[in-house]
Amino acid sequence: MIKLGIIGDPIAHSLSPALHSFVLNNLSIVAEYRAYRVREGELKDFLSAHSELAGFNVTIPHKERILCYLDRLSPEARLIGAVNTVKNEHGALVGYNTDSVGFLRSLQARSFAPRQAILVGAGGAARAVAHALLQYTVTALSIYNRTPERALKLAEELRQHHPSKTISAENNPAALPWDCVDLIVNATPVGMKDDALPVPLPARLPKNALVYDLVYNPLKTKLLLEAERRGAQIIDGLDMLIYQAIESLKIWLSRSDLDAQIGYDTLRRFLEEQL
Ligand code: NAP
Repeated sequence: MIKLGIIGDPIAHSLSPALHSFVLNNLSIVAEYRAYRVREGELKDFLSAHSELAGFNVTIPHKERILCYLDRLSPEARLIGAVNTVKNEHGALVGYNTDSVGFLRSLQARSFAPRQAILVGAGGAARAVAHALLQYTVTALSIYNRTPERALKLAEELRQHHPSKTISAENNPAALPWDCVDLIVNATPVGMKDDALPVPLPARLPKNALVYDLVYNPLKTKLLLEAERRGAQIIDGLDMLIYQAIESLKIWLSRSDLDAQIGYDTLRRFLEEQL
């Protein structure tokens, strides 16, 4: 029996256990995937006590802090500075980041290639999104975060890795470049199970703007509802959830053929039924 799981806090809302169990079952792989509530400060003890896990996902609030407990990092996880997938490779814990490629695949699936983006958040998921966008088609990125110092630090780091791009941190939402943006991404938990907005939207958004919320519970957050009201296209958090999960399974199972084995539409339907 392959033992897999996800660690985070809060974790009860997570669809990852249902999603992974569904996929593993469909692939006839004997495995279990469980959610573990691991609070801030409990990470080190959890890792020492759970060497039976062959792999696990990492979510809020551990994506950055876990780096110091891992034996090795993939080049991508090192660059991003955040880990959402850990594989136990003969006793060594190796950190990967599949949020980045998962996010990118969700844009590519819609043939959407943004040039100018606003990113809300500066945590682990935001780091993955920022690198994905800057490695893709985005030439100008503005970051807004509750704690402005964290956005400044991320912007500085990103400028070092992507010197040809325009990257800024903004602590006044009204001063964000709303007029010319074509993608707005929420990478904070704001909107999860409440009707708060991670950033106030202006009265009008540019034609063809797309608003992407990483939150998937509820599926249509207040941000997405307001974006639709302004005529914007929207993407909810399920697409990224699906693609990053497939990429994690490829790593744990050492199988590159999973895209052909797992249909996106089937997974999406299954997840919508769980909400
Ligand atoms: P994280 O590393 O802990 O970062 C959290 C970010 O959210 C930080 O920027 C934090 O700002 C901000 N934040 C937290 N609470 C806030 C509040 N009440 N008001 C304003 N800002 C707040 O977490 P993460 O791993 O990046 O995850 C962020 C969200 O993305 C979570 O909801 C997670 O479930 C979701 N996510 C979804 C997917 C998917 O596949 N759909 C993948 C990854 C993540 P400060 O710096 O000020 O603390």
